[in-house]
Amino acid sequence: MKVAFLNPPSYEDFDGGAGSRYQATREVTSFWYPTWLCYPAGMIKDSRVIDAPAEHYSLEKTLSIVKDFDLVVVYTSTASFMKDLDTVRCIKEARKDIKIALVGPHTSILPEESLRASQAIDFVCRREFDYSIKEFTEGKNLKEIDGISYRKNGEIIHNNDREPIKDLDALPFVVEVYRRDLNIHNYQIPYLLKPYVSIYTGRGCPAQCIFCLWPQTFTGNTYRVRSPENVVEEVGLALKYFPEVKEIFFDDDTFTANRARVHELCRGLKPLGITWSTTSRVSTDYDTLKVMKDSGLRLLVVGYESGNQQILDNVKKGVTIEQAKQFTKNCKKLKIQIHGAFILGLPEETHESIEDSIRFACKLNPDTIQVSLASPYPGTRLYELCQEKGYFVKENLVSERGYQNCSLQYPGITNLEIFQAVEKFYKRFYYRPRFIARMIKKILFNKEERRRVLREGAEFKEFLSRRKEMVRGNKAC
Ligand code: SF4
Repeated sequence: MKVAFLNPPSYEDFDGGAGSRYQATREVTSFWYPTWLCYPAGMIKDSRVIDAPAEHYSLEKTLSIVKDFDLVVVYTSTASFMKDLDTVRCIKEARKDIKIALVGPHTSILPEESLRASQAIDFVCRREFDYSIKEFTEGKNLKEIDGISYRKNGEIIHNNDREPIKDLDALPFVVEVYRRDLNIHNYQIPYLLKPYVSIYTGRGCPAQCIFCLWPQTFTGNTYRVRSPENVVEEVGLALKYFPEVKEIFFDDDTFTANRARVHELCRGLKPLGITWSTTSRVSTDYDTLKVMKDSGLRLLVVGYESGNQQILDNVKKGVTIEQAKQFTKNCKKLKIQIHGAFILGLPEETHESIEDSIRFACKLNPDTIQVSLASPYPGTRLYELCQEKGYFVKENLVSERGYQNCSLQYPGITNLEIFQAVEKFYKRFYYRPRFIARMIKKILFNKEERRRVLREGAEFKEFLSRRKEMVRGNKAC
C-alpha cells in the first residue's frame, strides 16, 4: 500500500504541522519538522511525507502528488480543521478510492465530530497513531485496530484506546525520513541556528499545566523516554546525513523532566561535540544545567508564561516567580541562552498581571522572547474551565490569515485589550536600549547574523502591521 503522510496546505506560512505547539502563523517565519508523521512513515516502505506549508505547495500541487497514493494520512489541528476538511474533500474528489485518515490532537479529542464533519474521511486516529497506521497498511481490518474511530453503515464506531507506546527505542529514526522526504533547509525557528534538525528523545510531560496542548491531548502525563544509546545513535546519523547542520534541537515536551536521565543522556552526548538546544522548566537545578552546558547545550526554550504568581497558580504551572529568577540567573552564569515563552490571556488575566509579565520579562532579560495568546484547545483543562466560566467570546483560534486570535476575555479586560497587549509586550521588551545595544553588537561582527536580524526585523514589522489590520477590521475579537 502506498501511503502519503500529509501536512496539508493551509494559511500562508502556517506553522501548524505535526510538531508545532501553537498552530498558527508566527511573528517571524517558523516551521517545525512534521516529526509525528515521520515515525509511521519510517515503518512503511512505500510511503512519503509531504509537508505542504514548508514546501509552499498549493492545494493543486498537493493534489497532483497525493492522487497516486492509496492511503493519505492527514495531520490536522483545531486551528486548521475547517481548511483541512476542504483539502480532504478535494483529495477524495480527485480519486474516490483513496482512503483518508485524519490524525493529531484534534481527532484524538473529537473523533466523532471529526468523522461527522466529512464523509470523505475513512477513519481517524486517537492519540499516538504510529502503529495504528502501520497495522492498517498491513491489512488489518478496521475493527481490529486499537485507537481508531470509523464509520460503519452510518454509525460511528470507536475501537478500544491504544496503549501509549512504552518501548520508544523500537520506533524508527525520524532522521532517516527527513533524509528521504524532507529538505532540512525548509525548517527554521528564529531562535535556533540554521539549519537545525529536531528530534524527540521522549514523549509526554508529568507537569499539569492546564493550557498545554500535547500532554493533555496526545502524549500524556508520563514522560516516556528513549535510551541514551538510542538517542546518541540517531544524533550520530543526523550528523552523518546532514553535515551542514549547526544545531540539534531536542523537542521533547519537557526535556528536563527526569533529572537522572538528563545527566545520563548528557554523558552520552558529550563525546559527540555537538551544539544542541532543548526545552526546560524553571525548576531545573544548577548542577543539571551545568552538565547540559558541558555537553554542548547552547539554548533553552523556557516556558515562563507569566510574571504574576496568581496566574501561574491559576494554570497549575507548578513553579514560582522566585524559581524563575534563580533559574535565569543560573543560565546567565553558565552562558546558556534563553528563549523565554510568555502567554497572555490565561485565566484570569488583568491589566495589572499583563504589566507584571512585561516588567518581569524585561527584568529577567532573556535573549529572545515569544508572546503567545492563550489558545483553549478542546481536550485541555483550559478549554473546560473557559466553557464553565463563560470566558469564551469566540471559537476561532486563528484569523483568516492564520494569526492567533484572542478568543477569551475576563472580568475587567476584553479580548481585544489582551490581543493588543501582545504588541505592547514585544515593543517594551525589544525596544529597550539594553536589547538594541546587544543586537547592534551582534550584527556588527557577524554577517550571517546581520542578514538574519534584518530579515526577521522586516517580517516582524509586517506581523505588527497585519495585527493592526485585524484590529481595524474588528477581526481580532
Ligand atoms: S511543563 Fe511545558 S510541556 Fe509540560 S505541561 Fe507544562 S507547558 Fe506543557
